[in-house]
Amino acid sequence: MNYLSTRGKAPQKRFSDILLGGLMEDGGLSLPATYPQVSDAELTAMRAMNYRELAFAILSKFADDIPADDLRDIVERTYTAEVYCNGRPDSDAAQITPLRKLDDTLFLQELSNGPTLAFKDMAMQLLGNLFEYVLAKRGETINILGATSGDTGSAAEYAMRGKQGVKVFMLSPHNAMSGFQRAQMYSLQDANIFNIAVRGMFDDAQDIVKAVSNDLVFKAKYKIGAVNSINWGRVVAQVIYYFKGYLAATASNDQQVSFAVPSGNFGNICAGHIARMMGLPIRRLILATNENDVLDEFFRTGAYVPRKTADVHVTSSPSMDISKASNFERFVFDLVGRDPNVVRELWKAVDTGGSFDLSATPYFPRMDEFGFVSGRSSHADRLATIRSVYKEHGLMIDTHTADGLKVALQHRERDVPTIVLETALPAKFEETIIEALGEKPWRPASMQDIESLPQRVEVMGIDAQAVKDYIVRNV
Ligand SMILES: *Cc1c(COP(=O)(O)O)cnc(C)c1O
Repeated sequence: MNYLSTRGKAPQKRFSDILLGGLMEDGGLSLPATYPQVSDAELTAMRAMNYRELAFAILSKFADDIPADDLRDIVERTYTAEVYCNGRPDSDAAQITPLRKLDDTLFLQELSNGPTLAFKDMAMQLLGNLFEYVLAKRGETINILGATSGDTGSAAEYAMRGKQGVKVFMLSPHNAMSGFQRAQMYSLQDANIFNIAVRGMFDDAQDIVKAVSNDLVFKAKYKIGAVNSINWGRVVAQVIYYFKGYLAATASNDQQVSFAVPSGNFGNICAGHIARMMGLPIRRLILATNENDVLDEFFRTGAYVPRKTADVHVTSSPSMDISKASNFERFVFDLVGRDPNVVRELWKAVDTGGSFDLSATPYFPRMDEFGFVSGRSSHADRLATIRSVYKEHGLMIDTHTADGLKVALQHRERDVPTIVLETALPAKFEETIIEALGEKPWRPASMQDIESLPQRVEVMGIDAQAVKDYIVRNV
């Protein structure tokens, strides 16, 4: 399996080579040169597999430069009931991503039972083990530098804690995350985890990461890497649970299902698109945004208009508060018939602060072939959805999952099973749950008093040099 760049000007690479990197050399994103296919017989065989066997069957199609026994071992260590048992007390941990039935054809797929209570653990836990493996093989080390507004940073830290050859330097906005999110990250005492709170907003932290990464001499000397949402290993790990959800909701391969996906950077739903391209019988991919509706606008009108950072709404589903969607280029590459010249042209505009509009092109009508539909949700929708699910099913869902469910109900077809991907547990967004329901969400026992644990964090100004100096002192 070779990987190409969506911009067509970089040499093709193997899985292990793109795993540790970010963008391809030409600024594009990596994709398989052709999508591996899943035959009817394979899909039937998958019906008898547990999550680990399924993960191996799918990953071995993409990571064929890792010996099968090694890959199997990595997968066996990653997707265990011990790692994915932190969620709801009655969830079926052995299933890893159990389906919960809301009515005859409406399901919730639990993806938030990992250590940080958000779906990002599904991919990040695998990435931690893959990184450790590839680095050891090559005798290399990596210093992961990132910025987080909450979920990504904690998922990365819990995945990388104690890993050989890996250090994590995670920037977060000082006093801008929830107390729970702060406690999750800052209470980690592992020697390879470094939390830096920047006296500013998320974008200030992000700008520092960019400034440090753009210093190519520093980047090479200190082996700076990233685990942001364009990381191919993360995308491919997310493909697995689309298969798992499909197989759990159907009894035979001639049935189709639709997935509803709360979306921000288009990473999660991109994995659904890839599963569909592999031949998984997915009818619709229902994309849900919050008030930051740049993606909903595209799928309705054909115009992709990234917002100015200052225009990003601060919402009660904050992990979807984005100005542009970093993985979107992967889908557009397929939409324009995999022509890198077209992608380069379109992103020439995007990369210089502009936009593009496909409505008058032959590509826009093709959108149907890819199964995408979309919708948006608001704070009021979120509260109403959280209330009605609680009332009808006695189930508390988080604000992002509520966005997904709201848009799913708008697009569902009664005779097609529709699976809403649960992207976080309500405990992470306590304030809005209290606003909606007047009571506190349930928490795993291990996190009952997490806010009172000792915290380890370095507070800094908005100063890239200070961050560099800190990295130099600690690598
Ligand atoms: C990251 C995140 C999302 C958005 O996922 P993308 O892959 O960026 O589209 C949605 N909900 C939650 C809770 C998240 O953490």
